Amino acid sequence: MKDLLKKRVLVTGGAGFLGSFLCERLIEEGCDVICMDNFFTGRKANISHLMDNPYFELMRHDVTFPFYVEVDEIYNLACPASPVHYQFDPVQTTKTSVHGAINVLGLAKRIKAKVFQASTSEVYGDPSIHPQPESYWGNVNPIGIRSCYDEGKRCAETLFFDYHRQHDTRIKVVRIFNTYGPRMHPQDGRVVSNFIMQALRGEDITIYGDGLQTRSFCYVSDLIEGWMRLMATDDDVTGPINIGNPGEFTMIELAENVIELTGSSSKLIFEDLPADDPKQRKPDITQAKEKLGWEPTVALRDGLVKTIEYFDGLLKQGE
Ligand code: NAD
Ligand code: UDP
Repeated sequence: MKDLLKKRVLVTGGAGFLGSFLCERLIEEGCDVICMDNFFTGRKANISHLMDNPYFELMRHDVTFPFYVEVDEIYNLACPASPVHYQFDPVQTTKTSVHGAINVLGLAKRIKAKVFQASTSEVYGDPSIHPQPESYWGNVNPIGIRSCYDEGKRCAETLFFDYHRQHDTRIKVVRIFNTYGPRMHPQDGRVVSNFIMQALRGEDITIYGDGLQTRSFCYVSDLIEGWMRLMATDDDVTGPINIGNPGEFTMIELAENVIELTGSSSKLIFEDLPADDPKQRKPDITQAKEKLGWEPTVALRDGLVKTIEYFDGLLKQGE
């Protein structure tokens, strides 16, 4: 009887950085969790601590192929998030977002599940409005090297809203701004993991371009709290809703913080800026504050300390 009362939740991309924290949080909240992943960027190490839990189940599957499970809620996270990884096989990246959305939405429609989409601040592209509110339609290059990710995520949003309008599917769409924390892949090429690994190894810190481009960094626990609040809202709250930390830093400022907190002697070196790299990014979180009563609580330096500890541990284990 107890098991019948548990909420059953499917998390696609559950073995990735964010997915592993989400699975953990859902288990803590008493849910029965199915984690689906094809391990493209996810790792068993991220979820190994959950494997013995009777309410955690791992399913190796590619979200671009149809699947059927009986659940109450679906969180769709499957998609590589780092530019290095999503540009490795761009056609597969678009398929993952678009076919993945079609598959989770088709399932949600059939089993009447509530479905969550991990969208991204990349839907705003290289934004001409700053900070970015949800009402901004974005400035995205449709044919550039980031397009497979940006346009794939934009099309996924379109599918979510069309399923909602056409089939009354209960949807929750979140636009995630750069998030960091333990369990990021040490070689995934994102700026926080790169800078910390470089600083800990005493290597040069690679700043792309002039380093004056900005990003807003959200610590993982803050992000997951925002997601839980969004998923618990009434059905008329669909999003899209920005979840991110409005603190805005240049890449030089980020590097200086990492050098100071690691006590590293690394020097900054400047390399070419990748194509279509957004110049600035900062969430307007008015909606998250008003509709979810949410705002971030972890300051960048505090989150960096915890993340540095994690990467330091990995290096000591010889990773
Ligand atoms: P991640 O790369 O660590 O996790 C993605 C997970 O999806 C991995 O476990 C990967 O193996 C899995 N995956 C990829 N393709 C798949 C497929 N075809 N079928 C099944 N599984 C597949 O990245 P993350 O940072 O945890 O991001 C999770 C989600 O959040 C992604 O959808 C990403 O676009 C979104 N997001 C993340 C950020 C961020 O800053 N971390 C920002 C915006 C959006
Ligand atoms: N970046 C950098 N050095 C690195 C990795 C990234 O200067 O070693 C820059 C990158 O050009 C971008 C910013 O840091 O301007 C954030 O990059 P990331 O890949 O983390 O995320 P995104 O560009 O998707 O926000």
